[in-house]
Amino acid sequence: MFPLASRGGKHWEVDWFSLASVLFLLTFSPLIVYYFIMSCDQYHCSLTDPIVDVLMGNSHLSDIWNKTPSLSWKAANIYICWVTFQVMLYILFPDFCHKFLPGYVGGVQEGAVTPTGTVNKYEINGLQAWIITHALWFANAYYFHWFSPTIIFDNWIPLLWCANILGYAVSTFAMIKSYLFPSNPNDCKFTGNLFYDYMMGIEFNPRIGKWFDFKLFFNGRPGIVAWTLINLSYAAKQQELYGQVTNSMILVNVLQGIYVLDFFWNEAWYLKTIDICHDHFGWYLGWGDCVWLPYLYTLQGLYLVYHPVQLSTANAVGILLLGLVGYYIFRMTNHQKDLFRRTDGNCKIWGKKPQYIECSYTSVDGTKYYSKLMISGFWGVARHFNYTGDLMGSLAYCLTCGFEHILPYFYIIYMTILLTHRCIRDEHRCSSKYGKDWKRYATAVPYRLIPGVF
Ligand code: NDP
Repeated sequence: MFPLASRGGKHWEVDWFSLASVLFLLTFSPLIVYYFIMSCDQYHCSLTDPIVDVLMGNSHLSDIWNKTPSLSWKAANIYICWVTFQVMLYILFPDFCHKFLPGYVGGVQEGAVTPTGTVNKYEINGLQAWIITHALWFANAYYFHWFSPTIIFDNWIPLLWCANILGYAVSTFAMIKSYLFPSNPNDCKFTGNLFYDYMMGIEFNPRIGKWFDFKLFFNGRPGIVAWTLINLSYAAKQQELYGQVTNSMILVNVLQGIYVLDFFWNEAWYLKTIDICHDHFGWYLGWGDCVWLPYLYTLQGLYLVYHPVQLSTANAVGILLLGLVGYYIFRMTNHQKDLFRRTDGNCKIWGKKPQYIECSYTSVDGTKYYSKLMISGFWGVARHFNYTGDLMGSLAYCLTCGFEHILPYFYIIYMTILLTHRCIRDEHRCSSKYGKDWKRYATAVPYRLIPGVF
């Protein structure tokens, strides 16, 4: 979730900039999340009012803290049920969806080759977990009425404390596990710096038993399954407070719903992305997936509960189009690379046989491997056009909220920093991996995100 450098290999030095970034993020990320959520709860989503209030002496930090709801038994019960339910869906129910959904790749799938040559197997059943969870949600909202559909919004801050407890617990457990009983000792990365190791993780693919994979579980569930439920809870709250759901709230639910569904539909593809292929499991992923993602990726819906924006039809259609075009670019770019790599270039991209640059690299054990970098389709437009599509979609979510406050724009600002940094660190890694072959690729496709600009 956060932009920091990560490399394979067993031992390496931490430079001072990386260490400073780690300390900064460890200290300030939990405060940032608290500040955003508290601003909505106490200051109607204004990010400046709390500071002005404190600086003018109208309020003390202790007043703000005292008004913040604390951890409650109700929230703890909700959270324990939620996580337990997701763990059960993950480990007890092998995927059934791939048996009847044409084109969907689920069930047991292989991940990428790790730096030491291991290939892990994963049970891909996220789509099934998402469908079951949402079917139960709707069944409850319209039929059973076991709990209110606004339950998430109504317990949002107490649930924040629960999410933090899980985030810290799982990161600490992962750290201890990597010293005492690592799943694959050869894929561990020790820097000798405690903070860095805690934040960026030591173990590459920590597991409990054969199937409970920390990275796949925490990256996808509970955070991403929760994302759409959180938005539904916000919509329900709007309905309760104002007697209607605004078109902006519907847009946020639809556009982010497409993104989430896309993630689960392509969960097998996700095994080949940077998160799974290159990042080790530490606080960055553990805490980030439990707290940062569900709380900050859903800010637009939260904002719209406090500021119900009704967009003009023209604006709503414009935002919808921006979101859909962004999604199309994001999906097609990722699809083109996936197809190209799966077929080893024996496929058609935009109706033609793809062009590519042949490249080679050597793994840590000295084995030479060959690979290909495509220069056709969207991969010939820019070196990371998938990120550009992602950013267009992110901007669309934020625009649904109008221009009264900066808070809902946090997402596009954050995603721009995250993806630009991710792009640079990926290119750094590819450049070390492929050497002069990468230079040939960068000459053939000179821009990273926007042709002619960057
Ligand atoms: P990519 O899917 O872009 O993968 C980059 C890797 O692809 C490179 O390391 C290289 O790996 C390979 N590659 C690079 N160029 C080429 C080429 N021309 N032809 C073939 N292979 C190439 O990156 P991510 O894993 O970061 O992103 C996946 C998606 O997830 C993106 O769409 C991104 O927008 C999204 N994302 C969303 C986030 C969110 O929080 N919402 C966070 C991060 C990502 P190799 O070593 O195999 O050659």
